[in-house]
Amino acid sequence: MSKNYSGIREQRRDTDTYTDWGGGSLEAGEKYPKNCLGRADRIFSQGLQCQQINSVMALLSVDDAAFVVHSPLGCAGCCSMANDWFRVGQLHRGNYGLRNARIIVTNLDEKDVILGGEEKLKKAVRTACERYAPKLIFIFTSCASAIIGDDIEAAVSELQRETDSVIVPLHCEGFKSKICASGYDAAFLAMTKYILRGAKRGETEPDLLNLFAPPTVSYHDRLEIERILGDIGIRVNYIPFYSSLEKIRKIPSARASTAICKVFADEFMKELKDEYGISYSHTIMPIGTRNTDKWLLGVAALFDKTEEARGYIAAEREKIRPLMDGLRERLSGKRVFITGGTGRSFAAAALIDDFGMRLVGMQTPVYDDDAQIDIEYLNALYGNFVVDVANMMPFEQVNLLSKLKPDVFIGIPVWAAKLGIPTTHVLDIKRPTMGYRNLVYLGNKIACQTENPGYNKKIAEYARLPYKKSWYEENAFKYIQK
Ligand code: SF4
Repeated sequence: MSKNYSGIREQRRDTDTYTDWGGGSLEAGEKYPKNCLGRADRIFSQGLQCQQINSVMALLSVDDAAFVVHSPLGCAGCCSMANDWFRVGQLHRGNYGLRNARIIVTNLDEKDVILGGEEKLKKAVRTACERYAPKLIFIFTSCASAIIGDDIEAAVSELQRETDSVIVPLHCEGFKSKICASGYDAAFLAMTKYILRGAKRGETEPDLLNLFAPPTVSYHDRLEIERILGDIGIRVNYIPFYSSLEKIRKIPSARASTAICKVFADEFMKELKDEYGISYSHTIMPIGTRNTDKWLLGVAALFDKTEEARGYIAAEREKIRPLMDGLRERLSGKRVFITGGTGRSFAAAALIDDFGMRLVGMQTPVYDDDAQIDIEYLNALYGNFVVDVANMMPFEQVNLLSKLKPDVFIGIPVWAAKLGIPTTHVLDIKRPTMGYRNLVYLGNKIACQTENPGYNKKIAEYARLPYKKSWYEENAFKYIQK
């Protein structure tokens, strides 16, 4: 990855990547392989998620670390959400002596933009060393630090001579990519360059799996995934959420790697394969029975446990079957709109089939080779549905929702709730969604929402969305122009 990959997802060499597109799923599935999807851009954009937040979220729970955000104060606004997740994660792990993440912001201002911000950065890193004496210091760059040309690497090499803390700068400037998952790649590029540093593989642990998990995986989901893998004799090195310097350094001794999300660590796993010969599985997120089966079989094959996994899957499915039958009775035929990160939205689109629900539309930040594999499966399952390739863009979302009128919305609920649509989501760090057992919890959550829609209906009565009536009659993709 560090050798072959720039860290900007739009520039990956082995796939086309579209970030601005809207239309039918059948059209997408047919045109993409022929390179006919059409390059486009939005002439009006309602704000993109910055990649810096993904870098911050990925690393904020690493043990004994401090964090320097080299940016104006506003860029660090996302840290409060990441810190909330960090605190919730501590509670779920039974740690009631909650603490905040150790974050220092350099607070670049107008003067620094003219005179440079390197001195502020050095001061912040020295303060982090004095205050916390951490094992690791992560530095997050920003648009401002890049535009003014601060030489982060030079500052780091000077600072590294003064401290035993391992200093790890991440290049997660928001303007570099429209795809916020590039922020995850920035974290793994930095780990490769500043922590692993070409370390030798050492002795392989034959039952150890590197399990790369994004920060949006709840603790209950982690336990469920570790349970499933443990039941077929696979141990887990869980990275980077609630991991440590030692666990990161252990990565090269694992027998194999996989990720919970398809767009998380995918490039890093290729690097581990090239550098250390560590095989990996890249299938789908383990939510829903079909996806969990596929994910588990992908991992099991790396450990020569395919037959064992097949028997295990049959037994697990049988255990939840009565509950799933009940959920199907409550949810069958409901029409669903899904939005989320690329990995999660496509996986969720397949999982609703477990409950007999139908997909009518989805919003996803990226369309690429992986999306094409999923869309072919989904087209066969549901026929044509609306696809909006968009990083956020709530104005398109509400337009589509008001036309499609789904029975359920799965995703971040703010806008759909104001339209009175029952909402739930699978991007939920606080609740279970993955594997076999947690699917039952998720199904109950969706069913409860559809059967008790009063709260969102009340919100819709009183909340006003900021759009004119005429916008709802427009083509939702009006501002995507070739
Ligand atoms: S790094 Fe850039 S895109 Fe991200 S919050 Fe700061 S200014 Fe915005």
